[in-house]
Amino acid sequence: MARYTNAKCKLCRREGKKLYLKGKRCYTAKCPVEKKGAVPPGEPPKRRSRITDYGVRLREKQKLKRTYGVLENQFRRYIREAEKKQKQSEFGVALQQILETRLDNIVRRLGFCWSLNQARQLVRHGHILIDNKRIDIPSYNVRVGQKITLAPTALNLFNVQEALKNFPRENIPSWLLREESYGKIERLPEKEDFGAEFNISLVVEYYSR
Ligand code: SF4
Repeated sequence: MARYTNAKCKLCRREGKKLYLKGKRCYTAKCPVEKKGAVPPGEPPKRRSRITDYGVRLREKQKLKRTYGVLENQFRRYIREAEKKQKQSEFGVALQQILETRLDNIVRRLGFCWSLNQARQLVRHGHILIDNKRIDIPSYNVRVGQKITLAPTALNLFNVQEALKNFPRENIPSWLLREESYGKIERLPEKEDFGAEFNISLVVEYYSR
């Protein structure tokens, strides 16, 4: 599967916020955004140019995509999927539910590791079980009540042991339940769980050009 491999901190600086792409470092004072603020990468422009409406929508779309490490084609598929689910819930909520329930994201949110990339690697290498079955597809959408367990092989990995010990429990969202080496989705996240982190209507406007 294709994935972004360039400097990750540049993405946070470009989007003007912390995207937590580098693991434990993101939670420390070594994070460049903590140290210097979200300074955009590259040479500072000689003249400050006004950002267009298109630019605002593009940035919001990129911010959402990069937070979940999803590439363009897959993101478009998620948009279509969310449109179909609109009858059950609002488009923005449906879209974020799809993104949040991706297996790699759940593994990171449960604190089995520190970053999305580490989570993806754990999944790909067969270290994650869903209802006792090995699932090695990072984009697999986990359903409410399914049990997500670290396989015995994962418990020997230093990074996993360290995260299980030190990942701050208060960072685990309230819609997830985490016991020692397993967890589950207790309920789907709702609008109030997402807060105002993303302006989904700008993303919708971007795709309805
Ligand atoms: Fe982003 Fe983490 Fe780098 Fe901070 S350390 S800029 S949160 S990737």
